[in-house]
This record gives sequence, C-alpha cells and structure tokens, in this order.
Amino acid sequence: NRAPLRPDQAKDRKTDEEGKSVYHAAGPIRPLRLALIAHDGRKDRMIALAREFAPRLRGCTLCATGTTGGRLATELGLEVERLLSGPLGGDLQIGARLAVGELDAVVFLRDPMTPQPHEPDIHALVRACDVHDVPCATNASTARLLLDQLLPRAASA
Ligand code: PGA
Repeated sequence: NRAPLRPDQAKDRKTDEEGKSVYHAAGPIRPLRLALIAHDGRKDRMIALAREFAPRLRGCTLCATGTTGGRLATELGLEVERLLSGPLGGDLQIGARLAVGELDAVVFLRDPMTPQPHEPDIHALVRACDVHDVPCATNASTARLLLDQLLPRAASA
C-alpha cells in the first residue's frame, strides 16, 4: 500500500525476473529535492509561482541561489537553503549538486531579454541538467507543469 512513485523515483523501482514491478526499495517516499533560481527580471514570477505551490513546496527539500532564496524565505516563509548568488557561483553550485545526483529537478526562470554576467555558468547549469537528465523548467508555464507532475496535490494533502 505504498504511495505511487513519482517519476523521479521510478529508478528506485525493483523488478522481478520478468521485468514486472514488484516493489520499490526506497522506503518512505523521500522529499523531492528541488533547486530554484530566478534572474532579476523573473524574480517576481518566481515568487508568484512559489506562492501558488507553497503548500506542496513545504514538503520539499529546497535550495536556491542567494537572492532568490532570500525572497522565497522572507516573502513566503519557505525553508530554503541559500547558496551563493548566481553571478558569484550559485548556478555552478547547483550544477555540481545535480551532477552527483543530489537534486531531482530545477526551476530556473531565466530572463531572456537581459544579458547576464555569468552567462557561461547559466549554460553550464542547463547543460548539466541535460547531461544528467534532470528535469529543468526555464519558464513559468513549464515550471507549473513540472511541479504539478512531481508534486501531485493528493500526495501532499
Ligand atoms: P540570485 O541569482 O538568486 O542570487 O539573484 C540568480 C541569478 O541571477 O543567476
């Protein structure tokens, strides 16, 4: 009578000799590990998105780049580990974490209209998501779809 596996936990599923799913060994469903990043031109959207999902996000293990994390904590009361600010290496910290399997998904609201001083870091992070097949939403609409899928209402109620 276990809760259904989330997509990111499907890799924990065990199968019998015929390949049928029999159980998963992950034990209690662990919290989703999610990184949140928003460029300055997208921070208000990140706050709006996080407000919409706040009850479900409270069940997650959250990390964020410095300023984004500060706003999420102050304005929404979310418990979030604050890493370095993006331009100071925060994107790279998040990339390093997901490369070693420590993150399940990334919401990265990029501002496509403003040049960023840390453009190489941004590319590195998105590339790391692709290399390691970690879901990465780079706009609010995709982020909504991703969070809805990863954090079903029923499971968090
Ligand atoms: P910040 O970093 O949350 O510290 O602003 C994000 C960024 O601009 O890359």
